[in-house]
Amino acid sequence: MRTFQQITALRAYLRAAREDNKRIGFVPTMGAFHEGHLTLMRRARADCDVVVVSVFVNPTQFGPGEDFSRYPRDLARDSRLAQQADVDALFTPDVETIYPAGAQTFVEVPGLAARWEGESRPGHFRGVATVCAKLFQIVQPDRAYFGQKDYQQLKVIERMVADLFLPLTVVPVPIVREEDGLAMSSRNVYLSAAERRAAPVLYRALSRAQAAFASGERSGAALRAILTASLAAEPLVSPDYAAIADAETLEPLTTVEDRAVALLAARIGSTRLIDNALLGFPAEKNSARASASS
Ligand code: AMP
Repeated sequence: MRTFQQITALRAYLRAAREDNKRIGFVPTMGAFHEGHLTLMRRARADCDVVVVSVFVNPTQFGPGEDFSRYPRDLARDSRLAQQADVDALFTPDVETIYPAGAQTFVEVPGLAARWEGESRPGHFRGVATVCAKLFQIVQPDRAYFGQKDYQQLKVIERMVADLFLPLTVVPVPIVREEDGLAMSSRNVYLSAAERRAAPVLYRALSRAQAAFASGERSGAALRAILTASLAAEPLVSPDYAAIADAETLEPLTTVEDRAVALLAARIGSTRLIDNALLGFPAEKNSARASASS
């Protein structure tokens, strides 16, 4: 595996691959790898000739008072894991490389970014869309792999790629979960033992909504009430939002007629977790246990 910090060196490496007509797969990450990241890398490995993974904790997607400075960083470990996943190139730029002095261009996807995470975290998706646009320009991948764990992010990136006619395919990858259902996240390391025990309530809430949907419940309000009642059973958890939304537009639904998504965000102590589940999709599109995915 090659590691690049500079854009010019990475581009020179990828130019050769492109001239050989190799298919380039790209997995953008903020590092602190877990099985979710590794699943994206394996998926890219299976589909592509050259796999590029970026590790960049992107300051512009964190709001004031969020966890940018304490976000877990362990490049030595990430590098080992990427190598084991047979990644070809690791791109680890510093902040000045991605945002050089004088940079002022940002990308906004205002409609899809308006609600849910976008409302709770103003500016978050502007930072996400901007860094992904920059990374796509640097890597120029044929395919880019995104986890459904960050469902709204996936939809924002799909929209941006379509709107800017970027010549790449966005590949969604199902959520990878711990044995007890907790969606894997780099932020799970923040949880105390008691908080970690409480955290699977998000998955239980989503599973109950899915079960109700499977038994014919189509009322958005009723499905949402199942989410909020399930979360309320866990005193360590304070919900931020619970939504039943259209799977493409992310607009809240009164009645679920077609494909929908249940979206959750909650605080457990000082940690903010998000999770989601699809309604009305084939089960395999949803999520996988870590043991089943490796
Ligand atoms: P992050 O490093 O948290 O920015 O995540 C990098 C990529 O990994 C994003 O596309 C995430 O959606 C994806 N990802 C994070 N956690 C999971 C998970 N539990 N299952 C699937 N993909 C994930």
